[in-house]
Amino acid sequence: MNQEILFATHNRGKLEEARNYLSPLGYLVYGLDDLFLSEEVVEDGKSYEENAYKKAKAFESLPFPVFSDDSGLEVEALGGKPGLFTARFASEKGGYKEAMAALAQATEGNPRARYVCTICLLEKGQKKPLFFTGVCEGEILKEPVGDHGFGFDPAFKSKEGVYFGLANQEEKAKVSHRGRALLKLATYLAI
Ligand code: IMP
Repeated sequence: MNQEILFATHNRGKLEEARNYLSPLGYLVYGLDDLFLSEEVVEDGKSYEENAYKKAKAFESLPFPVFSDDSGLEVEALGGKPGLFTARFASEKGGYKEAMAALAQATEGNPRARYVCTICLLEKGQKKPLFFTGVCEGEILKEPVGDHGFGFDPAFKSKEGVYFGLANQEEKAKVSHRGRALLKLATYLAI
């Protein structure tokens, strides 16, 4: 029988990535939309851990385990920004197209960047949250490439040479920050 688990996200792309890792272990992974749930979590934490914990905790009363993630893009030429504020950075620039152009300009001298993703897992009967973090090193591209994925994907190439705007989900998940965090989560859940 399948074990139910909630990924507290509305993002279909993130949900598919999680299903790729957890379905083979016998997990039935719901997203918030599958259960007609919504959350009003203010992401004002000082770390990816704090924000991920807030998002998971909002659903701790469900009868099965819950996990959530918080992620961001850290650009070396910007001293690690936008980081925790990546989604806000995109909306302040007027959208992803404009934000990618701004990043391309800001990284002319040094394109190095990395994505970070932290997953928070709340298990039933366990008081303490567990955290799993994945990092993907790479660079900001001078021009966006492809239209796969979401958010800043077309602007990013991993150090392994994977263009996130061209990669399919499987190719991206092998090297991505979320894929690496999910692999840690899946390894923990499999034991
Ligand atoms: P959050 O984890 O949903 O708060 O993500 C913060 C923001 O980081 C997103 O809105 C995207 O702009 C960006 N981001 C995080 N992960 C990815 C990814 O895998 N591809 C592209 N953009 C991402």
